[in-house]
Amino acid sequence: METRSFNGVAPPAGGQTITFTNGQPVTPDKPIVPYINGDGIGPEISIATRRVIDAAVKNAYGDKRQVMWYEIFASEAATAKFGTPLPADTLDAIRAYGVAIKGPLTTPTGEGHRSYNVQLRQTLDLYRCVRPIRYYTGVPSVVKKPENVNIVIFRENTEDVYAGIEYAYDSPEAAKLRGVLRELGAQMRDDTGIGIKIMSRFGSERLIRAAIQHAIDKGLKVVTLVHKGNIQKFTEGAFQKWGYELAAKEFADKIVTEADLWAKHNGKMPEGKILLNDRIADAMFFELLARPQQYSVLATMNLNGDYFSDAVAAQVGGLGIAPGANIGDSSAIFEATHGTAARLAGLNVANPCSLLLSAVMMLEFFGWTEAAKAVVKTVETTIGKATVTADLADLMPGSTSLSTSAFADALIANLPTES
Ligand code: NAD
Repeated sequence: METRSFNGVAPPAGGQTITFTNGQPVTPDKPIVPYINGDGIGPEISIATRRVIDAAVKNAYGDKRQVMWYEIFASEAATAKFGTPLPADTLDAIRAYGVAIKGPLTTPTGEGHRSYNVQLRQTLDLYRCVRPIRYYTGVPSVVKKPENVNIVIFRENTEDVYAGIEYAYDSPEAAKLRGVLRELGAQMRDDTGIGIKIMSRFGSERLIRAAIQHAIDKGLKVVTLVHKGNIQKFTEGAFQKWGYELAAKEFADKIVTEADLWAKHNGKMPEGKILLNDRIADAMFFELLARPQQYSVLATMNLNGDYFSDAVAAQVGGLGIAPGANIGDSSAIFEATHGTAARLAGLNVANPCSLLLSAVMMLEFFGWTEAAKAVVKTVETTIGKATVTADLADLMPGSTSLSTSAFADALIANLPTES
């Protein structure tokens, strides 16, 4: 397939295009992978990530396979170069090449532009945010048994209160909506701002379907629908209902619901089946602290997913490590889950693991499992030797504190020779 230039930059020679069939990527041996360095610490962790990934791919496949990195621009770098923070070419490049990997981007709170991350997810319909969260031995954690956490969060990415349907309390739109709502019997004060929570059956089903399919593909044992349906009956409550209905319709041979576990199986899970249960969101926070080992895949809506992703990541040692991917049926963006850490920018001290492990998710997405496993192994080995970046070193007595680039060198040196 012909390759195209974006933002006036030619793609790397010899690079090929990823295509999608039924929502699954078909990855050539030399895929063009657009990358956005990001703001703050973004460029430093991005360079470290690309170096480690290149080394792991070379170790695993020699010259047969190679990631063909291709820089595209967003936020500060795009504003500096093109006078606009999210050029159409950046979105078009991701559409054309099917994937991208990105560092963190700055978003102001309460005013100014909408989050570029949210815009990217919604414009490209990257409807599921996938965050696998596990523990790496040696990483300091606030809980007693962080090793019990091994959870993948599937967060719906396009709906809920993130849809951006919001009106300031003193706007004509809010006044109009207050009028309509009062006609429907709702009561509210005249100085009420309005944000609308939307959740569709279609949007909920495709997220839950992906979560169940992930459990099937990876041999995981439990899928939990996390919701606040006791209060928000027609949005989060509907999510729960649609989830069970979907499972009965599409996965009846693979799934046992918690109700059936007791009604039909005497509390004993039949061999090879996946347990489907649901939990009210507030109780789930307790569950994840008290008995995380009983959960493996969470399927939840946008705002809950945001909370849970960070809360669970905190249990295994924080945001510097946990990776993330935003995936649709025709493109995907892999991204660091932390922010721009502006005070560390340019100091060569930031931890590149979140972005690196996001790149591992990308390798898995390609089906390049040997290289993906090798990077996970070297992260385990390198942290296991107590050689870490400053954020972890500060909390790990007896550890060696490495710069971002020296940590990347250590990761490359520790790559397993056989996968
Ligand atoms: P932050 O993640 O940038 O920082 C929180 C704390 O974690 C800080 O102490 C920071 O120094 C530390 N930290 C974060 N990443 C680190 C790393 N890789 N290595 C070492 N230490 C690290 O969060 P914030 O301060 O709330 O947000 C800063 C900016 O980032 C805001 O503009 C926010 O909107 C944006 N943000 C972007 C994304 C994204 O692009 N996906 C996500 C979250 C926040």
